[in-house]
Amino acid sequence: ARAQTMEITEKPDVNYDDIGGIDDQVREVREAVEQPLAQPELFENVGIEPPAGVLLYGPPGTGKTMLAKAVATQTDATFIKMAGSELVRKFIGEGSRLVRDLFEMAREREPAVIFIDEIDAIAATRTESKTSGDAEVQRTMMQLLSEMDGFDERGDIRIIAATNRFDMLDDAILRPGRFDRLIEVPEPDGEGRQQIFEIHTRTMNVDDDVDFEVLAEQTVGFTGAEIESVTTEAGMFAIRDDRTTVGQSDFEAALEKIEAGDAEVVTSAN
Ligand code: ATP
Repeated sequence: ARAQTMEITEKPDVNYDDIGGIDDQVREVREAVEQPLAQPELFENVGIEPPAGVLLYGPPGTGKTMLAKAVATQTDATFIKMAGSELVRKFIGEGSRLVRDLFEMAREREPAVIFIDEIDAIAATRTESKTSGDAEVQRTMMQLLSEMDGFDERGDIRIIAATNRFDMLDDAILRPGRFDRLIEVPEPDGEGRQQIFEIHTRTMNVDDDVDFEVLAEQTVGFTGAEIESVTTEAGMFAIRDDRTTVGQSDFEAALEKIEAGDAEVVTSAN
């Protein structure tokens, strides 16, 4: 039953070069998560503890899940994902139980990267209302913190959390020894958008007239997930038109369609 709420990927296949526009964040994540897994002796020799947990924050669809997956790919670690919202349960003790299962699963399959998406669902600042539901969520979060307190920072399990609602988080989870490395993952800038277009068209049959620099200029405010939708939608236009190559006009039509909100922007669980 526990597998229903956890997504376990034994061999994740996201690489750092699949991620566009957030090179600084990639570097920080590698330092904070990959190095302690791959070369724990670096930390031992110097005599410091690596960050306990890493928190990625920023708008949806900017590559936070990809980053966590790429670390797991790079270190041949099992990727175990759970959504914070899944940890919010009706019955007393169910949430904490899931947290225990999550860490147990990681211990069974180490090296492992645990990724908790939407951490705000269990780690938001509590409001004044003290309903029993709040108390249960609180217990779930305490369980998570105690699991984190209990594991060896130089060990084979790393934990990454993500949120779109950084402002809502309870300070308790950000204390040293907990999620003590914060990495902001912003919307991509122009150059980043161009890179993301290039990444998502790598396998596409694209015409010579396609200009990704121009497309990047036309997509101010788009996230990586939205750019991915534009590329897929552009391919759909070519198919409808019985063509096997995708041209600039297809991309522009796709852009218009997505800006008009006709297309569902799906954040795929990659
Ligand atoms: P959420 O907060 O909704 O979980 P997220 O930040 O974790 O979002 P991802 O799940 O990593 O976003 O991204 C969704 C999809 O969008 C990815 O599978 C990928 O195809 C595309 N994408 C997002 N950001 C990038 C990026 N920086 N480079 C390349 N592709 C990206």
